[in-house]
Amino acid sequence: MTNRDPLGPARRMALFIAEIVAAASVLPPFVWNDSAVRCRRRPKNRRCSGRLRVREERTGEIAYQCSVCDRGGTVSGWRGTDYDLSSFRDERDEPRLELVLTEEEYDLLRRCLLMLDQETMALISGATFSPAGIVLRASVEDLEILEGDIASEENHTPNRRKQRTLDGILRRIAMVLRPPAPYSPLLQ
Ligand SMILES: [Zn+2]
Repeated sequence: MTNRDPLGPARRMALFIAEIVAAASVLPPFVWNDSAVRCRRRPKNRRCSGRLRVREERTGEIAYQCSVCDRGGTVSGWRGTDYDLSSFRDERDEPRLELVLTEEEYDLLRRCLLMLDQETMALISGATFSPAGIVLRASVEDLEILEGDIASEENHTPNRRKQRTLDGILRRIAMVLRPPAPYSPLLQ
């Protein structure tokens, strides 16, 4: 195995913990949340398909547990770090639009935009998984900003496949923000 980046595994582990902290700190505390953070375990060299349940405990620790395998653990000392998004929790009580994405769409969005700024991180990390897909909840304003960020990312990538996936997300956002008027023959 060639690994030109000897810090790679440590970096990936740090990112994994950062994603857990971001999700658990923005989602409601003291209850298990089906976050969209992927499990990193690779049994028999195939990636576990699970996503993590996360919960901020009353002790202040963050607990996580894979939805599929037995990977789990706790994180402490996260308050005040760049990934502590607890200040965004209150905003989440406002009315929210729901954007449902496929796993591929969500994972691409996370790779492209997670580290853009804290608002975007809160939006992406606050997603939850459901049988219908990954559900992002956002205000109209946040969704419009996300739309602009994705359009800019789409314009700057030479990768066709990535462009197509981003384009699919843009169409989904447009349907949520500007749903077509229902057909009504009486009004014609
Ligand atoms: Zn797992």
